[in-house]
Amino acid sequence: MINIKFPDGNVRQYEDGVTPLDIAKSISEGFARNVLAASLNDEEWDISRPICMDGDIKFFKWEDAEGKHAFWHTSAHLLAEALQELYPGVQFGIGPAVENGFYYDIDTGGNPLTDADFAKIEKKMTELAQKNEDVVRADISKADALKFFGDKGQTLKCELINDLEDGHITTYTQGNFTDLCRGPHIPSTGAIKAIKVMSLAGAYWRGDETRPQLTRVYGITFPKKKMLDEYLVLLEEAKKRDHRKIGKEMELFAFSPNVGQGLPLWLPKGAALRNRLQDMLAKIQKRYGYQQVITPHIGNKLLYVTSGHYAKYGKDSFRPITTPEEGEEYMLKPMNCPHHCEIYKTSPRSYRDLPIRYAEFGTVYRYEQSGELHGLTRVRSFTQDDAHLFCTPDQLKQEFLGVMDIISFIFRVFGFQYEAQISLRDPNNKEKYVGTDENWEKAERAIVEACEEKGLVAKQVTGEAAFYGPKLDFMVKDALGRRWQLGTIQVDYNLPERFQLEYTGADNQKHRPVMIHRAPFGSLERFVAVLLEHTAGKLPLWLVPDQCVVLPISEKFNDYAHHVADELNKLDVRAIVDDRNEKIGRKIRDNELKRIPYLLIVGEKEASCEEISVRKQGEGDQGSKKITTFAAEINREVAEMTNF
Ligand SMILES: [Zn+2]
Ligand SMILES: [Zn+2]
Repeated sequence: MINIKFPDGNVRQYEDGVTPLDIAKSISEGFARNVLAASLNDEEWDISRPICMDGDIKFFKWEDAEGKHAFWHTSAHLLAEALQELYPGVQFGIGPAVENGFYYDIDTGGNPLTDADFAKIEKKMTELAQKNEDVVRADISKADALKFFGDKGQTLKCELINDLEDGHITTYTQGNFTDLCRGPHIPSTGAIKAIKVMSLAGAYWRGDETRPQLTRVYGITFPKKKMLDEYLVLLEEAKKRDHRKIGKEMELFAFSPNVGQGLPLWLPKGAALRNRLQDMLAKIQKRYGYQQVITPHIGNKLLYVTSGHYAKYGKDSFRPITTPEEGEEYMLKPMNCPHHCEIYKTSPRSYRDLPIRYAEFGTVYRYEQSGELHGLTRVRSFTQDDAHLFCTPDQLKQEFLGVMDIISFIFRVFGFQYEAQISLRDPNNKEKYVGTDENWEKAERAIVEACEEKGLVAKQVTGEAAFYGPKLDFMVKDALGRRWQLGTIQVDYNLPERFQLEYTGADNQKHRPVMIHRAPFGSLERFVAVLLEHTAGKLPLWLVPDQCVVLPISEKFNDYAHHVADELNKLDVRAIVDDRNEKIGRKIRDNELKRIPYLLIVGEKEASCEEISVRKQGEGDQGSKKITTFAAEINREVAEMTNF
């Protein structure tokens, strides 16, 4: 008999060789029907795989990332099985589950797939799924694996096997298809009820540009047909909200091939919007004792050798710049931290000076492969709302609480729901991390306690910490329920060591400060992208580029319209005029599309008494108002919103 411990602490005995599915059934048939994956002692475990030792069990359903992962990974195998039947001789690369579905990288030789093949592939996958084939795991020796995949002509798989350690190789088979795979998988293919092949892309084998380009086939599947329908509706809505499209329509940002890929150009309206975001954050940070600093966009290569960033970014980043006379090497800065460490070092510090909080809207440059670039979310130049806090180990918790206040405040202002994840070190692999045990324990406890004090439910993940310290990451959920990683708070024991940062303690001895990196928005680029998709471009009144547009009903009133806009701008209301020679109905429609909150219509009646006829986006006619009355109302509305 073996002892199985459940997440609630209960322990039950089972026969040797019991499967997680059997265990789930012993709880209830209904529960077992929904279980897709399990873990045993935190190791992923197929629910059909026998257990022959004591252990802690966890179950995962569709609602859990682990459950979806097993479902989609099995779907990737189903896709491969279908492709193998439809296109004999196809070569398989890798086929993982991803955030929304799965993909398989394949080589179809001389006959590339096109969108026209999707229906055929979906049909074949459905046919195979309906056979409800068992997915069977097997251990295999390295030699046998090489022979098996070699005989099938799967040279890419053989290359993968060559990199694996003998004794740790497994395959999964369903029907006539066998894949090299670590799993986990769902027990059989019948649970896959709704199937959609989504798209094709090119992908270099092993991400290496010198290797052959494969075809990446993306798909998504669901346990219910209705879920696929809902997903496709959501996808349509997401397309309408694509920040690249909205950014263009609202004239916020642009890209020019002449400037370079992944280098966003902020247009006047976008730059003003960005400044408003910065002002907001600067105002809050000032209240929390931050000091603003400014540092250059480049730094001596040796600075990044000291910080370790050269080792991390140097090889795969922009190449160093050399000076013509001295032969010195400079790099575009990939991070602001080294500069801030040098600012810390400009004076001797005492414990009485701490904490010190340096904030900078610092633009950094990181090379991304052109295929990875995407709108404002993946760029080569971006501005972090960065800050570095230097404190004593005992001050960590207090500083965490302060940063959490700022982050949760910002997410509330924009109506984002959010969740948090605490990344802790792997206690069984302590040698992987820098910093003393005592400090790690203190820091991890500080983060956990800070979350508890704030009532923030945060998932704790061991082994996810960076080698230099534990961290707390924030994920926001947008209006479509999509998750985006934004703010982060990161403890760092490494840089203070590398830069030999010190302060004199109350004991008159030298001590190392702890450093915290934090960025509530993450980067302004990413934040604006997420915000545009979250709001579909309908930004709050305080932030929106143009708060109102004046629409003369005919050319005769263009002068009066400009007079209205001038008056409003003088009163701090952002107003523009649409004096195109178009019908008023057309102007209303066009400007509503531009997501301008207020449309101000002016004609004979309004011009005669310094009035405007107000129309509010989404709410319709608001009646006639004096220009000054309207301005006062707008200013009041904005003041209430910006009472940060
Ligand atoms: Zn697999
Ligand atoms: Zn940093």
